[in-house]
Amino acid sequence: MNIAPPPPPTTTEKILAGFAKISLVMRHESWRAAGERGLTPTQSQILSVLKSASKPFGLAEVASHLAVSPGTASEALSALIGKGLVSKKRSAEDARAIVLSLTHKGAREAVKSGEWPSPMIQAVEALPEHERASLLRGLIGMIRTMQECGSIPMSRMCVGCRYFRPNEYPGTKKPHHCLLIDAPIADSDLRVDCAEMEPAADDVRPRLWGVFVNGQPLDHQGPGQRRSPPKSRRISHINK
Ligand code: SF4
Repeated sequence: MNIAPPPPPTTTEKILAGFAKISLVMRHESWRAAGERGLTPTQSQILSVLKSASKPFGLAEVASHLAVSPGTASEALSALIGKGLVSKKRSAEDARAIVLSLTHKGAREAVKSGEWPSPMIQAVEALPEHERASLLRGLIGMIRTMQECGSIPMSRMCVGCRYFRPNEYPGTKKPHHCLLIDAPIADSDLRVDCAEMEPAADDVRPRLWGVFVNGQPLDHQGPGQRRSPPKSRRISHINK
């Protein structure tokens, strides 16, 4: 009896298989790099989170940012405090709350924690610029969908930011605008973890996304003023 060959994998299955391979490398590299410094990947990620936090974080915020349980975050934080990398104190705003901060030694370690594995940097930089920008757009869309489903916590991305004006200058190399720095930004400038991000109102976020995807300036659909690109294009923090 002839057995029918399995159907060819769908595009979705092939993409997910690709992500699985990439995540293996990421996991292996993060264990290796953190292990060399006497840390676990979770401890290393906590240092990065505290370094990029725009306000003092407590245990709940750290756990939420890493999408881990409070118990896991608490265990990792205790180890970091024991190693002299993190300290805790009472919040200046609420004496009942405990906030966490990096010690001097922890701040130095956090810089290393923020470094990406070189095999991953090489793989991304081997792509042509336009493919990197397309990949970034695709990843932003996936992250947003997972956020909307509640699978991951809210990321500090441009597409959910009150300062973001998508497609203000359609057809140009820098079609979007960041009101914070008052400058046009390209797809490749879009941020997925911006310390200055402030969430847009719940009813504005879907409109920002719709305009971003559909390619029409925001003033055609909602709030925002059409503008000309400013003379000074202060994009330094965008390109970090
Ligand atoms: S760069 Fe930062 S501040 Fe500007 S729109 Fe993006 S997330 Fe908001």
